[in-house]
Amino acid sequence: MKTDAHAQLEPAVEIRPGVFRPDWSAVTKPRAREALAGRLAARAGLLDKWSHRLDANDDLVWRAILQFYGDHGQPPQIADIAGEIGFEIDHVETALRALDSNDLIGLDRDSGQIRLAYPFTEAVTAHRVDLNGHTLHALCAIDALGAADMYGADISISSPCRHCGSQIEVTTTADGRAPKSVAPAGAVVWYDFAYDGCAAGSCCPSIAFFCSDAHLQQWLDVQTPRRDGTGLTVDEALEVGRAIFGPVLTDPLSDTLR
Ligand SMILES: [Zn+2]
Repeated sequence: MKTDAHAQLEPAVEIRPGVFRPDWSAVTKPRAREALAGRLAARAGLLDKWSHRLDANDDLVWRAILQFYGDHGQPPQIADIAGEIGFEIDHVETALRALDSNDLIGLDRDSGQIRLAYPFTEAVTAHRVDLNGHTLHALCAIDALGAADMYGADISISSPCRHCGSQIEVTTTADGRAPKSVAPAGAVVWYDFAYDGCAAGSCCPSIAFFCSDAHLQQWLDVQTPRRDGTGLTVDEALEVGRAIFGPVLTDPLSDTLR
């Protein structure tokens, strides 16, 4: 009985042996826990996508893409991935299609190149992330906040209030595990629950920063249909981002390839 209740409250997927996503241990604040549980419940489709543990080759390609993105500030070409992990080109292409269908990356329909790999996209979004000397664009506010812990690096985020457009600046400390500065201090994040099979097209556009709770409420008041989701402080939102992105690169690629 206890195990069942636990599983229901803390749904997670073992993305590779011993690595669970989301990482509930990163989420200590009650409202952040409620938000993550609420969103996973509302977005059954997402856990379905994640619930098939990735094939080991697909997982390797996924990590190679994200590592390259962090190192170079842009997604790798297919040949870059093949060279990095010693795969044939067609094996990389097979893995890319699997990752695309699992909504972990997005491929350009015409060129077949990587156009997004959560948390980052080649599209210019409102959420600018400075990481390792590169400026990147995140799909949403939670993705921007989660990127820091995923790379174990501190980042700066710049993103406009979704309501008034005034700029919000967030920096992290402790290798991305906590906010260092939030300006303005009362900035909040709207964590939207919508999901239609592709986060980039459904919930991401509505997961945004607001300069204050008042501006979040004013924005929510004029949304039709009403948005389903929850408001979070930046501290709480960073915990949710860590839970989702923190586990992804926990095993260094170099150890796997050794
Ligand atoms: Zn505002």
